Amino acid sequence: MSLVAQLQAALGADAVLIAQADVAGHVQDWRGRYRGPAACVVLPSSTRQVAAAVRIAGQLRVPVLAQGGNTSLCGGAVPWPDGAAPMLLNLARMRSVRSIDAANNSMEVDAGCVLASVQQAARERQRLYPVSLGAEGSCQIGGTIATNAGGTGVLRYGTTRENVLGLEVVLPDGQIWNGLYRLRKNNTGLDLKHLFIGSEGTLGVITAASLKLHPLPTAQAVAWLAVASPRAALQMLDLCQTRYGASLAAFEMMNGLQLRNVLEHVPGRRPPLPAAYDWHLLVELADTRAEPALTAALEEVLLQGLAQDLVLDASLATSGAQRAALWAVRHSVSEANKKAGIGWTTDCAVPVSAVPEFIARATRAVHRTLPGLPIAIVAHLGDGNVHFIPLLSFGQWNALAHGPATAHAVQHAIHEVAHALGGSFSAEHGIGQLLTQEMALFKPAVEIDMMRGIKGLLDPHQLFNPGRLLPATPHRPKGV
Ligand code: FAD
Repeated sequence: MSLVAQLQAALGADAVLIAQADVAGHVQDWRGRYRGPAACVVLPSSTRQVAAAVRIAGQLRVPVLAQGGNTSLCGGAVPWPDGAAPMLLNLARMRSVRSIDAANNSMEVDAGCVLASVQQAARERQRLYPVSLGAEGSCQIGGTIATNAGGTGVLRYGTTRENVLGLEVVLPDGQIWNGLYRLRKNNTGLDLKHLFIGSEGTLGVITAASLKLHPLPTAQAVAWLAVASPRAALQMLDLCQTRYGASLAAFEMMNGLQLRNVLEHVPGRRPPLPAAYDWHLLVELADTRAEPALTAALEEVLLQGLAQDLVLDASLATSGAQRAALWAVRHSVSEANKKAGIGWTTDCAVPVSAVPEFIARATRAVHRTLPGLPIAIVAHLGDGNVHFIPLLSFGQWNALAHGPATAHAVQHAIHEVAHALGGSFSAEHGIGQLLTQEMALFKPAVEIDMMRGIKGLLDPHQLFNPGRLLPATPHRPKGV
């Protein structure tokens, strides 16, 4: 029997999509940059169905591509354009919140739950699931775990990795690993969940997760600040951290061009401050103190910043609606850049103290190739993650000779700058199909070898998301 016939027999005909119109939305990425054919799209309703589908694909040696909300920014969740078309497993039907244990500050969810619905379910029990990002209305918990997503809460709560207590995974041989622990302490050898967090679908299909919850802050204070430079922004970060400690929940930065893009391209976004300022900060305090006390505390440090000439202008939200409006501006950057033109997005991490140096050197590197090219910059400054985005209008892109090669060279030059400063060329978006060659160039050979060894052990037939994450050929970076 064919793959499709076997899958239909095992899972039911309505769980296997083959019609072009049904499959179309799954085989192209969010920005329309990557697409490729799928043998079929499978929509399992349970872990057992995932295991059954994986076993069938394994017997027929058909590659398996797990897909969540398909919001990957590096082509991670769509089929490759050549080679064997994969069975695409989308977990959208697996979206139950299995349980919430408020006393243990944990919840167990199906991997197909949309991130925003998990946040909401936790909120209803006065708890916080702190991973938050612009795609939270579409991305799935399984996808955020497979990519170890970051977002705006990392400064205080860490990345997804720090917020996962346990996992359930279907392994490439079809076995189900139930590792849904709810423990903070468990020193019984290797903590295997960490193999799958950030593995981008190359080692198994994550079908459920046990997540760490936190007390729900009862009060927030949010301000938008204009500052003169990234260095002044760092000084403000230092002031805020010294003054508020763990109450500092977010510290985001963008340049004036990025803010102007949002205001121009995303309807309904209002300027918190004049976009003519060169650098902007979004600062949030969150706490269980009463709201007026928190707002007063934020005001105090803003005044200190103004007195020290670090802050040029500030706008303090005075209502929940105003706070939401400020965050809406921040969460609209990807949508705005998509409409503004072709952005050569990069996602670098450097030590927080090196962010100003990174921005200065990366700007020079870009302008050596394309003098004066506009660069949108948006950073999770509190954790040293800078999205440094040379941005071409559609007209500039069409007129550019050797566009893809130039884009690659410019992005590589930016990655070189991050590497030289002790940083990473992929902070939170992952590798996907976009950055496998950068893995070969920047990742130490011994790390690649270990990753290949683990892959070979779990997926000896190399069926799970082949061609992603790991470079195609072994490579020894210079001097390693
Ligand atoms: P997909 O895109 O479907 O898949 C991503 C990868 O995970 C693929 O390799 C896929 O094979 C694998 N995968 C998916 N589900 C599973 C599963 N159940 N088991 C095993 N493997 C699986 N990312 C950030 O980190 N921080 C941000 O601030 C951020 N902002 C964003 C804003 C916008 C507007 C957009 C479009 C994206 C943003 N992203 C951000 C990137 C993206 O949202 C995240 O990488 C997200 O975690 C991907 O989740 P997803 O469910 O869409 O996964």
